[in-house]
Amino acid sequence: MEAHAKTAMQYIEDKRDLIVGLSDRVWELAELSLQEHESAACLAEALCGEGFTITEVEGLPAAFVAEWGSGEPILGFLGEYDALPGVSQKAQVEREELVPRGAGHACGHNLLGAASFGAAIALKKEMEAGNLPGTIRFYGCPAEEAYGGKVFMAREGLFDDCDVCLTWHPGSINRVRTGSSLAIDGLMVTFYGRTAHASGDPYNGRSALDAVQLMNMGIEFMREHMPPDARIHYTIVDGGRQPNVVPAVASEWLYVRGPEKDMVVDLNERVVNCAEGAAQMTDTTVEVEVLSSLWHTLNNRTLENQLLDCMKRVGRPQFSSEDRELAEAFSRTVSMDQKKASLRKQGLDPEEYAECGLHESILEDMSDQEPGGSTDVADVSWCCPTAQFSTACAALGTPGHSWQLVAQAGLGIGHEGMLAAARIMAEAGLALLTDEELRARAKKEFEERTGGIPYTTSLPDEIPSFYLERK
Ligand SMILES: [Zn+2]
Repeated sequence: MEAHAKTAMQYIEDKRDLIVGLSDRVWELAELSLQEHESAACLAEALCGEGFTITEVEGLPAAFVAEWGSGEPILGFLGEYDALPGVSQKAQVEREELVPRGAGHACGHNLLGAASFGAAIALKKEMEAGNLPGTIRFYGCPAEEAYGGKVFMAREGLFDDCDVCLTWHPGSINRVRTGSSLAIDGLMVTFYGRTAHASGDPYNGRSALDAVQLMNMGIEFMREHMPPDARIHYTIVDGGRQPNVVPAVASEWLYVRGPEKDMVVDLNERVVNCAEGAAQMTDTTVEVEVLSSLWHTLNNRTLENQLLDCMKRVGRPQFSSEDRELAEAFSRTVSMDQKKASLRKQGLDPEEYAECGLHESILEDMSDQEPGGSTDVADVSWCCPTAQFSTACAALGTPGHSWQLVAQAGLGIGHEGMLAAARIMAEAGLALLTDEELRARAKKEFEERTGGIPYTTSLPDEIPSFYLERK
């Protein structure tokens, strides 16, 4: 009979208002990556209030490690709290910005950090009640959405002595995360030309924006000749100021992704060739700066199976009838085609769930999922055995990074999914702390998957100033 974290479950219930309050506060703050100082401070203060010791991470803004207990085993919970730009939204079913052109929690990281907080404090209570040895860590990880704070922390060796790290991500279904994630590099490409009057003497100008456009032409033609599961996307962050001035400077921010790190390295070279070719064509010069670099995830079946057991025991979100009604209303804000495509992608039968607002069961399919996105959790997974899951924090069919997601991350739907996540992590935490054999199996699998390759990263040594200045 496996241990059941009864005290922890009760404590999460007792601390419900605190956990929900933290999530809502971070939701309101909606701070961008590497600027999430207040969000980090809220969580750190609350952990301090629960008896954890806080250590800042030197050189990385808004990062900290909270620790309680002593000795082995060491169990880490990962917390995130950064928002995304341009998706501000009120907590309601109609589209309306909370702050004009402001940021919003369109990935639900307000819930992510608060649930990991809930798990950490509840497991501490359980350990005190059972007089259990070991250390709990809450990693306050900034900048998941840009830069990748965990990569910095992994390079500092902060995860190396962990027996296991657990985390989760808000989603629209309850399931363990299996399979990998895409490796990704973030590049900033800046072209330098010279200004001129765009009508009076354009022949004297050399347009940096022309270079950006020609580089993109190259990239667009490249798409047909790159692996089908690779991805490249970009935004022009500086395209000049006014049409009558030939732009002397223009820059583009690109993400290059692929299922394996090596593929991203190859694609980067081809993107740089496009940039250099465009510079030659336009008589401009070009600079390429690496802004971020994330690995693909090494998953861990041993831990994933454990998470599924825990999910089945304590992981069903406790939605109210009000949550269900709201979810149906949110579901109606996306077209049926869009909803069905999303259900299919997530492994749910589109016909069975077409009219359903919320996923209230546990999806037990443990086959490898498509690595749709990227995450800096991947870098942690190269340092210690790591596993993740998602819970339903939004209506079925809710698109990622959308205003609908921001709204639900600030409502009861998100809160219930978050509390379920806290219970699952506390339950799994107890199993891991008390079962040495389970930890050993997870470690053995981790070593097999890394193949003994030590963790390295091509993250730039200094944090690019671009992140610190943007709005
Ligand atoms: Zn996210």
